Amino acid sequence: MEKREKLYEGKAKIIYATEDPDKVVVYFKDDTTAFDGVKKEEITGKGVINNTISSMIFELLQKRGIPTHFIKKLSDREMLAYRVEIIPVEVVVRNYAAGSFTKRYGIEEGTRLEKPLVETFWKNDELHDPLVCEEHIELLKLADLEDVKEMKKIALRVNEVLKDFFAAKNIILVDFKLEFGKTSDGKLVLADEISPDSCRLWDAKTKKKLDKDVFRYDLGDLQEAYKELLKRLEDT
Ligand code: UDP
Repeated sequence: MEKREKLYEGKAKIIYATEDPDKVVVYFKDDTTAFDGVKKEEITGKGVINNTISSMIFELLQKRGIPTHFIKKLSDREMLAYRVEIIPVEVVVRNYAAGSFTKRYGIEEGTRLEKPLVETFWKNDELHDPLVCEEHIELLKLADLEDVKEMKKIALRVNEVLKDFFAAKNIILVDFKLEFGKTSDGKLVLADEISPDSCRLWDAKTKKKLDKDVFRYDLGDLQEAYKELLKRLEDT
């Protein structure tokens, strides 16, 4: 698949056009950012690991009947995907309290939630991705409410699949963020990436963090944490 002009460059990925107008190449960079890009660093090899993990997870989800933009892994840092228009609403699923949830509601990190919680955020860096409910989404015309309801349903199915996938590797899926898009024929699909940049993953026994919190909060060597995670996911 011939890679053509750059369509978009984000904080961690670059999207390139291909000769097929409905397909794009997603290139994973080593750039690592947190707190809306305020904290920035290049972490050697991170893009390779995130592409590998994302590809592995999208393949698994597709096998379980969840529609995604993923077509195939092309190389170390590239995947081929359907071109989508990203819906500016991020869906977060939480199984345990962490991150912004602990601060917002005063609940201690690591508290197990009685059932998975689904939250929606407006994808808007300038406004620091504010939490929005369906009423906000409707009023601000961020997305079609039917799509949002479907996105939340898919997110809970993704949670069930991924919780088991990680549990088999003795890893707790604490929370994760999903992005969705619409293909040229109007189909709603899971898009973006699913990687330790967008999930919180803890060792089930020691609670050691194997995700981007290691970078966010200077908890150690991110490259080592991501390498350990990949090794555990690849071990059968
Ligand atoms: N997350 C993400 N991108 C964002 C915000 C959050 O990938 O712009 C992920 C984050 O890695 C975590 C989950 O979504 O797995 C929930 O994040 P939270 O709302 O707690 O925000 P944070 O603490 O990251 O600011």
